[in-house]
Amino acid sequence: MHDTPGGWRRTAAGAGLLRADGSVASTIFAEMTALAMRTGAINLGQGFPDEDGPAEVLEAAREAISAGVNQYPPGLGILDLREAICEHQRRFYGLDVDPGTQTVVTTGATEALAAALLGLVDGPDDEVVVFEPYYDSYAACVALSGATLRTVPLRFPDFQPDLDELAAAVSDRTRVILLNNPHNPTGAVFERAVLDEIIRLAHAHNAIILSDEVYEHLTFGVPHTPVAALPGGWERTLTISSGGKTFRTTGWKIGWITGPAELVTAALTVKQFLTYVSGAPFQPAIAAGLRLPDAFFTGIADEMRRKKDMLGAGLRAAGLAVSEPRGSYFTVADAASLGAADADEFCRGPLAEAGVVAIPITAFVSPARRDEYRTLVRFAACKRVEVLDEAVARLATLAG
Ligand code: PMP
Ligand code: GLN
Repeated sequence: MHDTPGGWRRTAAGAGLLRADGSVASTIFAEMTALAMRTGAINLGQGFPDEDGPAEVLEAAREAISAGVNQYPPGLGILDLREAICEHQRRFYGLDVDPGTQTVVTTGATEALAAALLGLVDGPDDEVVVFEPYYDSYAACVALSGATLRTVPLRFPDFQPDLDELAAAVSDRTRVILLNNPHNPTGAVFERAVLDEIIRLAHAHNAIILSDEVYEHLTFGVPHTPVAALPGGWERTLTISSGGKTFRTTGWKIGWITGPAELVTAALTVKQFLTYVSGAPFQPAIAAGLRLPDAFFTGIADEMRRKKDMLGAGLRAAGLAVSEPRGSYFTVADAASLGAADADEFCRGPLAEAGVVAIPITAFVSPARRDEYRTLVRFAACKRVEVLDEAVARLATLAG
């Protein structure tokens, strides 16, 4: 066994991931959701909506099941969904993507990330550069791939990377620059200069950009710009998204990868042995979702914006310093404003006692950097207005 920079240990057989103390790890999301269920606290921890998505999308899945769409679909995904993904990339970003060779459907963005990383990197001499804090599966998948993780810090409250630190992290050993934009857990949407620099570095060092864009339709007052749509971006980028956030179907696990055929094939080669194929009846339903009119997409962004504003105001009223997210479900608050020295203790102690569950940002950072993020907490705003109202009332009790 050996320790990895993400704090994971990999068994010799590569068969399991263990925490550094030897225990089998459950994810922080599962743990905090269990805490909320046990205590009756409002769950602003795990990012999942508490309402159904568009009726026509749900109905399309029911119809597909009734029509017998219940056996293995093609490995690439059904053609209708691949076409809908390509229509979506053209409609929103002006990208021309070929549904035959440049698109593959996956079991959520999670599998897309795993398949792409396992397909593109090969052992400890390959480095993966990632912004930190990072979505938890990134470090776990890099550990599975055996590659070396290098991180670039994003700092409270604006969470934009320092371009010199970014350039210093990328070298000829870098195989993948892994980007998540809009960003979980910080809510950052990266400036154009950051995306341009990533593209420049990828070209200079012969690296591939892996861009996780699952929150592409949840930005607030700023457009979403896929790195693949910028000059020089397409030929070096695999773009990942999924239907979970956009259509409030996080349990359906339909994701996709688009990019140059050779890179998509590298991911597909692994995907076929991870899950073989992905949820047949949900594929036509997500295709229907991707073809919804523009008003649907602007509507979900407007709604999320109102919700994050409610949450932000409530956190401020409770006496917390907060970030101003420009996208995603998430807002980051600094519990140090309330005198807390450790966000993990704050989340399990005073916050849970006030009746709200959130996630300490330390769950998204490598052990080496834990101290820098020790007092930060991530709150999710993807809940019904009345639930957020109640959460804000409970947060107010912290202020006293
Ligand atoms: N990437 C990011 C940044 C996420 O927040 C999530 C979870 N919502 C995923 C990937 C996983 O997406 P999926 O549920 O489609 O696997
Ligand atoms: N993406 C969601 C979040 O960040 C949760 C996904 C999960 O539970 N793995 O909260």
